[in-house]
Amino acid sequence: DPTKMKDWEIAQAAEERMIPIDRLAADIGLRPEELIPMGRQLTKVDHRRVLERMPGAGSARYIDVTAITPTPLGEGKTTTTMGLVQGLGAIGKRPVGAIRQPSSGPTFNIKGSAAGGGLAQCIPLTPFSLGLTGDIDAMTNAHNLAMTALTARMQHEHNYDDARLARANLKRLDIDPGQVHWKWAIDFCAQALRNITIGQGGKMDGLEMDSGFQITVSSELMAILAVARDLKDLRERIAKIVLATDRNGRPVTTADLEVDGAMTAWMRNTLDPTLMQTVEGQPVFVHAGPFANIAIGQSSVLADRLGSRLGDYLVTESGFGADIGFEKFWNLKCRYSGLAPDAVVLVATIRALKMHGGGPKVKPGLPLDDVYKEENLELVERGCRNLAAHIETVKRSGVRPVVCLNGFHTDTAAEREVVRKVAEAHDAYFAVSEHWLRGGEGARELAEAVEAAAEEPGDFRFLYELETPLRERIELIARDIYGADGVTFEPLAEEKLARLENDPEARSMGTCMVKTHLSLSHDPELKGRPAGWTLPVRDILTYRGAGFLVPVAGTIKLLPGTGSNPAYRRIDVDPDTGKVEGLF
Ligand code: ADP
Ligand code: MG
Repeated sequence: DPTKMKDWEIAQAAEERMIPIDRLAADIGLRPEELIPMGRQLTKVDHRRVLERMPGAGSARYIDVTAITPTPLGEGKTTTTMGLVQGLGAIGKRPVGAIRQPSSGPTFNIKGSAAGGGLAQCIPLTPFSLGLTGDIDAMTNAHNLAMTALTARMQHEHNYDDARLARANLKRLDIDPGQVHWKWAIDFCAQALRNITIGQGGKMDGLEMDSGFQITVSSELMAILAVARDLKDLRERIAKIVLATDRNGRPVTTADLEVDGAMTAWMRNTLDPTLMQTVEGQPVFVHAGPFANIAIGQSSVLADRLGSRLGDYLVTESGFGADIGFEKFWNLKCRYSGLAPDAVVLVATIRALKMHGGGPKVKPGLPLDDVYKEENLELVERGCRNLAAHIETVKRSGVRPVVCLNGFHTDTAAEREVVRKVAEAHDAYFAVSEHWLRGGEGARELAEAVEAAAEEPGDFRFLYELETPLRERIELIARDIYGADGVTFEPLAEEKLARLENDPEARSMGTCMVKTHLSLSHDPELKGRPAGWTLPVRDILTYRGAGFLVPVAGTIKLLPGTGSNPAYRRIDVDPDTGKVEGLF
């Protein structure tokens, strides 16, 4: 009974019956030479060998899991992704899942490692939560190597005259210390490192300047890993990263510092996704974990390309609500991967619908108001305006969504009926799913709805083409997806727009919006389906390595803070068994 057990206790029990990973890999047709084993429970999969052996497009039905606008607690996309994989298994399919790798920041802070929950989880939980196969560590090193190269070069140029630089075969890059765009990387929520001074001491101790840290998963390297097609693509993208600006306003790249090759060397193994399993033994690829604001916020293109060759259904998750996560899946990830979804699952909960209907604030760490535990049809009904907006969004992509009511044990039958009626009135498929409570058996209805939806001929099309000017793209997203009346561009954004209009490279880059996920609008306090508002765009950032233009209509925190009741207070190791407790 998952209402009486912690997620880590359920995971530990399931791990007793885990399928040895070499057997699970063989079951989905992977050959021994395609595996890079990391113990008995985990293996990396050599993407190059698999893609060489199986060229062309994969044949699996491609399913994305997205959600309505969530409460800050999360409405169960990852849990439903695992539940759907298990449910497809229960109805006799051969599904593969694909989810993100968690960052140590949230794992040890408030959010947890997000491996699903209840009887729908990805295991083994301990390695999943504690660094997995080292990809994030490799990225931290590659990132900090770039900063090492940058700061060493600045010191040398400061201390040496042109003749001395020439003897070392170095050209003066003349980097502007006030225009260093990159920070150092650490994968914890260490707010004290947000703003720091480096280079204190003598002239051999570096150049003194302002600097700071960002969390590793917010690095452009993570944004790149999520979209890279292969090693060559990774190498080319890393070389284009702009670290700083010189005193003439020109970009300084990793290639200018000749550190791009060494960074790629650190990152070489990160391209191989890690194969794990659900608590019921279906395969799950865990790969990449980019931020959902300055990056796509979902697992990698490579994991989806591999997974779509190894099963009959590939189920992946896109972070945040459909306005952000699905929009990026649709217009960025699918453009990069060449894949098109056969079905899209839109997760809703009674809890979030009540919040959108006007229910009291939901906050992590605070007890839930009684409204969320008792029947209240009126709040659910009113909150369904938010669901309707997201159904329309998914339909704009040419796909008829499957609304999945992620069942909580506090839901009433009448409340569920309200959601069914609204979904059907908007011509969406509908299923209640109880995977959290009952595992794959509880997700049969969802699996069958997804099977039916995936059979329906699709008409998937992008919201914008890359030829669409950036201004128009932003207006399209704001009006058609967020429901804004229009967009206002603040002076800084106008200036950047004008510059980007004359930049031929910018025309081939995707648009990766920054906006809160807690509202359809830019204001996290506005719930339901806000009307009569305009989207203010403050700035437009350019990530040349990832290939993203990033319009900023919200705040970007690249290093979240640790609160006063972080998860690490409850994490420990049992000294007798060596097992880790308290993860979730
Ligand atoms: P998301 O991926 O949308 O952020 P998660 O799947 O990580 O959401 O779920 C958020 C939290 O809610 C997790 O702790 C999970 O265990 C819990 N949860 C999800 N679905 C249910 C459910 N049906 N009943 C109870 N708890 C749930
Ligand atoms: Mg999730």
